[in-house]
Amino acid sequence: MPSTTTPTSAPATPDVAVIGGGPAGLMAAEVLAAQGARVAVYDAMPSVGRKFLMAGKGGMNLTHAEPEPAFLGRYGARTGQLAPMLADFGAQALRDWVHGLGIDTFVGSSGRVFPTDMKAAPMLRAWLHRLRESGVQFHMRHRWLGWEDGDGVPHALRFATPHGDTVVRARAVVLALGGASWARLGSDGAWVPRLAQRGVEIAPLRPANCGFDVAWSEDFSTRFAGAPVKPVAIALNDRDGHLNYRQGEFVISRDGIEGSLVYALSAPIRDRIEADGEATIHLDLLPSHSAEQVSAQVEHPRGSRSLSSHLQSRLGITGVKAGLLRECLSRDAMLDPGTLAVSLKALPLRVLRPRPIDEVISSAGGVRFEAMDASLMLRALPGVFCAGEMLDWEAPTGGYLLTACFASGRTAALGAAAYLTRA
Ligand SMILES: Cc1cc2nc3c(=O)[nH]c(=O)nc-3n(C[C@H](O)[C@H](O)[C@H](O)COP(=O)(O)OP(=O)(O)OC[C@H]3O[C@@H](n4cnc5c(N)ncnc54)[C@H](O)[C@@H]3O)c2cc1C
Repeated sequence: MPSTTTPTSAPATPDVAVIGGGPAGLMAAEVLAAQGARVAVYDAMPSVGRKFLMAGKGGMNLTHAEPEPAFLGRYGARTGQLAPMLADFGAQALRDWVHGLGIDTFVGSSGRVFPTDMKAAPMLRAWLHRLRESGVQFHMRHRWLGWEDGDGVPHALRFATPHGDTVVRARAVVLALGGASWARLGSDGAWVPRLAQRGVEIAPLRPANCGFDVAWSEDFSTRFAGAPVKPVAIALNDRDGHLNYRQGEFVISRDGIEGSLVYALSAPIRDRIEADGEATIHLDLLPSHSAEQVSAQVEHPRGSRSLSSHLQSRLGITGVKAGLLRECLSRDAMLDPGTLAVSLKALPLRVLRPRPIDEVISSAGGVRFEAMDASLMLRALPGVFCAGEMLDWEAPTGGYLLTACFASGRTAALGAAAYLTRA
């Protein structure tokens, strides 16, 4: 982990206290310092950017190069709220900013944008160096506990530190505390009751970009846990009757399903489970075959060959795909050519629940946009701004998460800078 300054027992009195040193908070600190504010970053962990570094482990996907309308559409119901922030600091601005840190980027075949070395650590190191040079102070192992009642609320901030509790007074505050996944990296969602007590409206934090539990038989999960299913498509009707259909690949896990295709559809699957108690998705095991082609091949006379050899030779159904058929269809259904053909294109799979929030990539829910003005200042707590994953938006993987964290960090900082001139 990149080193940061050692904890200070007597924190300075900054103009702005940025609480949370993930991408959103660090961007807020940078923008505020550039505006001439005295900025201090407080983080509960011994070093900043731990989730950012974790995101770099599998290849740091910074943003996406797709055209703007499609890009904005990834934020679903929150596109309207995020569009102005992304217009100010979107995918290209983010890439230019990364280049300014001395890190090159490239666009992968899927349109995803990565640093050339795929890593987060060199970028974070260069960024922290630049932040310190611009005068930003870092106070690690400072866990924000809420506000000191009756003393300059909301700007008297209580922290637990290794040297005991302390109170920091600031003229404005940016909260960038993250969501509620991977608590061991710092973002544990403990801020929810602290803000709720102050009258801030918060949508419940929920798993996003997540896998799901399926009640596999012992035999199936023993044989196929870890097996990739590809190519495959998943179809799911959401409650409004809208058909989500997407092709890609996913992985069988011991308890269910995970992987990119499942993450991409995780929001509608999760919403369906929340509404109905469970969801049935349909697997298209032969996405490049038409229903007619599948039917013709299934019904082709198989002579003395077993059904599995028939499916293998005529349609290439083998391994985990054959296992899924046996797992999800009754013996009678398998032996009925009509039902089998339909099932190869739409195999029903009952999905029970999302994986626990702590192990998923991101969380949905958070501070409602209605609780903030356009500069991300809390209506209930003037002078307190929020940014990053703790806001009530969600997006699929593909760099959209980091892009919105950076963009909202910048918006909150510009709001806080303007507030300082008014206060
Ligand atoms: C495995 C994994 C891979 C990912 N890969 C990608 C990817 O490739 N592309 C992408 O776009 N996104 C990716 N993400 C998501 C992305 O990392 C997050 O959306 C992003 O880090 C959120 O930024 P943030 O600044 O809002 O919050 P965080 O990065 O979570 O930072 C919040 C900070 O607040 C601090 N904090 C929390 N509570 C307190 C408190 N009470 N007091 C003081 N400090 C506190 C935490 O210690 C932490 O440092 C990935 C996530 C994971 C888990």
